[in-house]
Amino acid sequence: MRYFPIFVDLKGRRVIVVGGGEEATRKVRLLLKTDALIEVIANELHPELADGSRIRWIAKSFLPDLLDGAALVYSADPQLNAEVSAAAQARGIPVNAVDQADISTFIIPSIVDRDPVIVAIGTEGTAPVLAQGIRGKIDALLPQSLGNLARKAASLREFVATKVPHGNRRRSFWQQFFSGPLQEAVLADDAAGFELHFQQALSGNATPAAGRVSLVGAGPGDPELLTLKAHRRIQEADVIVYDRLVSDGVLEMARRDAIRIPVGKTPFEASPSQREINDVLLREAQKGLHVVRLKGGDPYVFGRGGEEQAFLESAGIAVDVVPGITAALGCAASARLPLTQRGHNRSITLLTAASESGIAEHDWAPLAKPGQAFAIYMGVNAAGDIAGRLLDSGIAPSTPVAIVENGTLASERVLTTTIGGLWETIQFAGVTGPSMIYVGLRQARASADVVPFPIREDIRDALLKAAS
Ligand code: SAH
Repeated sequence: MRYFPIFVDLKGRRVIVVGGGEEATRKVRLLLKTDALIEVIANELHPELADGSRIRWIAKSFLPDLLDGAALVYSADPQLNAEVSAAAQARGIPVNAVDQADISTFIIPSIVDRDPVIVAIGTEGTAPVLAQGIRGKIDALLPQSLGNLARKAASLREFVATKVPHGNRRRSFWQQFFSGPLQEAVLADDAAGFELHFQQALSGNATPAAGRVSLVGAGPGDPELLTLKAHRRIQEADVIVYDRLVSDGVLEMARRDAIRIPVGKTPFEASPSQREINDVLLREAQKGLHVVRLKGGDPYVFGRGGEEQAFLESAGIAVDVVPGITAALGCAASARLPLTQRGHNRSITLLTAASESGIAEHDWAPLAKPGQAFAIYMGVNAAGDIAGRLLDSGIAPSTPVAIVENGTLASERVLTTTIGGLWETIQFAGVTGPSMIYVGLRQARASADVVPFPIREDIRDALLKAAS
């Protein structure tokens, strides 16, 4: 480690910025977050720097003596950097010359700001873009209101010291403070909830951490399609109870020590019943754990999220719900199928082809009318029957259909056909992965960037044989 990270107290101290252009302005913007006295030396000022209340314009041209007594110096004027750096170093003042590490005595990290919680990331200048990437990840991880939590702790520190004896008891108090319901109450700005848990924690007989369940939408597969909140919940989880549709990429985001419990329902295989899944969720939550129930897509769209929530809440378990990108939306974007198009369709229906007892029945007649668009979930096995019902209800056999298999994943396939050819297409192409079937979308008509589908040879041979 060549550069030693430190946090410098700039309250009331002079920081001098040499230069009045873009770079200087960027530095000043950062400095404005501190209580430093900001002084600028520049021939001309960027309009943003002309705010006389916090920023003093002390000179037009640089003179070494102007640096006397400053806490830090930034030089953002390529013409002057060498001179400024020499003058600062002669006075023992740390100096940074923009983009010139060789004449700087300190460098500036990438920062995640949740004041007063500050995360600084540095690569000693080797890989600024890497630092940016890490910054983004940490930024996504830390709740926006994290600063409130730290401030709250600071404001209570003395009071807690008078109530909770020093040592293990106090350490355990603060551990409780920064996890579980106390932390959640501060982050959610829930004053009443905070007061309740705070009193319990002070009295030392806090009920053991109450377990809870987060119903989290994992999106259609591509881990990048997770919401920030889903990402955070996954990383907080003690236990992850997940479906077959949750992709490996998403599961990899969990902590290494999180317990993973698969409860995937696989068609035609023995899989846990909904009752068994409910029991697993309840059992784990009752151990006082944070259970994340990860579901493909969105928990409330053909995901039984409502049932699990009702069951858990009736058993006294707190449940929160984090939405996800449902397959109909994720797959459409990935396959470039606009779900509504001006002058074509004004609505789109999401429907399931499968029900507890087989094919899900719908009122097919309205769906069969011209101009209707709908997205079918769980439709691969029932595709022949669904197409039959729609044709019986008068849909035009040439109505365009797009099938998106394994949408948003590397193995995605997009097939286009018509309602009349739906069943054959599925058979010929050997569609077996989870698929969305879109009926009546304008773009579903064969377009140039649709991937031609390979016909599975064994299926083709079998069909040819049967036909001959
Ligand atoms: N809650 C989920 C849906 C669960 S039902 C959601 O909101 O998306 C399961 C069905 O979702 C599958 O049969 C398939 O129709 C669809 N599905 C889920 N992930 C998919 C994917 N990556 N590609 C295509 N269809 C998908």
